[in-house]
Amino acid sequence: MRQPLVAGNWKMNMNLHQSQKLVSEIINGLGKDNKAEVIVCPPFTSLSEVNSLLKRTQIKLGAQNMYYEENGAFTGEVSADMLKSVGCEYVILGHSERRVIFNELDDLINKKIKAALVKGLKPIFCIGELLEQREKGETMQVVSRQVEKGLEGISAEQMKNIIIAYEPVWAIGTGKTATPQQAQEVHSFIRELVAKKFPTSVAENFIIQYGGSVKPDNSSELLSQKDIDGALVGGACLKADSFLGIIASA
Ligand code: PEP
Repeated sequence: MRQPLVAGNWKMNMNLHQSQKLVSEIINGLGKDNKAEVIVCPPFTSLSEVNSLLKRTQIKLGAQNMYYEENGAFTGEVSADMLKSVGCEYVILGHSERRVIFNELDDLINKKIKAALVKGLKPIFCIGELLEQREKGETMQVVSRQVEKGLEGISAEQMKNIIIAYEPVWAIGTGKTATPQQAQEVHSFIRELVAKKFPTSVAENFIIQYGGSVKPDNSSELLSQKDIDGALVGGACLKADSFLGIIASA
């Protein structure tokens, strides 16, 4: 049985005061009998404060990025150890905005995944095709390359701590969601890819989130698909009501 995992990626939104307000609303609004595990991923500048507010709640903290080196002359970067020291348990890696805007390639993402795991952070490893790649029928090829390269050198034991988020880039922040069938098709393909590399038990138990314009009115159908184990939510996690609605539907 895979427990649904709903994560909110706040992106470059919410200053400190706004972060405190949003996380307090989420804490106060969260029902007692939600099935889902919940993660919030605020910007770096809010992590420490949000962590304090999350104490004595079940909500987990994640970061949106990190660098793979331990420390040193890497101006503007943060390390896995720094994220751990402010209470992070998860880190989003390989998000399409990092890949497209900041030119992050598979090889760099692989190094980040390994560095996160060494420090005990669980990577939420994002993959997904661009619109033109889907239109050319290249979706499975792209996803397959991203999985292969991103997970190069990862052991079965490490794979137990990795979450994959399938996020078709054309569905991120656009209001266009993949249909539940389109998403399920790719999710089951990803599970098969993982089953080729790792023991069946690992492939059956690891979490694959869907991301791309998930909202309270489409989340329950998406999350009811066999291989969709949760959601990585962007826009809809910036309002407590809509994030809570997605959590309740899981
Ligand atoms: C995301 O950025 O991970 C995302 C899924 O964004 P949105 O929900 O806004 O499409």
